[in-house]
Amino acid sequence: MPELPEVETTVRGLDRVLRGRRIASVEARRPDLRHAMPVDLGQRLTGALVTDLRRRAKYGLIDTDRGDTLVFHLGMTGHWRIDPTEIGKHDHFIITTDDRRRLALNDARRFGSLDLVRTDELAEWPPIKALGPEPFDLDAHGLKKRLAGRSAAIKLLLLDQRIVAGLGNIYVCEALHRAGIHPLRAGGSVSLARLQRLVPAIHDVLAESIAAGGSTLRDFAAPDGELGYFPKSFAVYDREGRPCACGGTVARIVQNGRSTFYCPRCQR
Ligand SMILES: [Zn+2]
Repeated sequence: MPELPEVETTVRGLDRVLRGRRIASVEARRPDLRHAMPVDLGQRLTGALVTDLRRRAKYGLIDTDRGDTLVFHLGMTGHWRIDPTEIGKHDHFIITTDDRRRLALNDARRFGSLDLVRTDELAEWPPIKALGPEPFDLDAHGLKKRLAGRSAAIKLLLLDQRIVAGLGNIYVCEALHRAGIHPLRAGGSVSLARLQRLVPAIHDVLAESIAAGGSTLRDFAAPDGELGYFPKSFAVYDREGRPCACGGTVARIVQNGRSTFYCPRCQR
């Protein structure tokens, strides 16, 4: 499943093709993904100039000179293909630029979404308005306030998009491990000193992964380039029963139906 680094990598890859270009045409090859695409998508995007590309949490944002923002979410299986040599049955939305580049949003499971929102209303758009701060805008004091009085497990609170936006299962597991914090510990009981290790750990695991994704963009211009997916290695995620660097053994528990990987020896 794409997490924040995949979305960031995707936005950076799309930026190289779309920024400053006019959209010559768009083609919605079905009416919906997870929910219906706007019916006036083609009318509002055709001929528009792409002025900026950004990311908020796991949403990619494509701004145009008409005051619209195309908002995409990759869901479980979504990814953009650059200059695909042929269009497949899971390529649901296609943008062609004025310099004849072609971008296809491919999403086999269709948990992703496409919306068109007025750029000046984006901050008030409910899915965005509900989000907490970006991980990179968070500091330990801010996180301490957001966790105050909360008895739920720190792992679950970090996945709550209202507390911090864009963090998914993999990076929460990895950051807690780096900070030596047990995933079941009550969020409100984690000391400021430990949050001062956790917040940089969150920044580092995300930044390292974004850097790994960025390195894959070097050859993305090849036809059929797939944006946003790249190999990664983890210290605990998906490593149940394997050794931790401390000499302990990585364990797996289930919290709210999702696997948590951690080391019982170095995470307290
Ligand atoms: Zn360990």
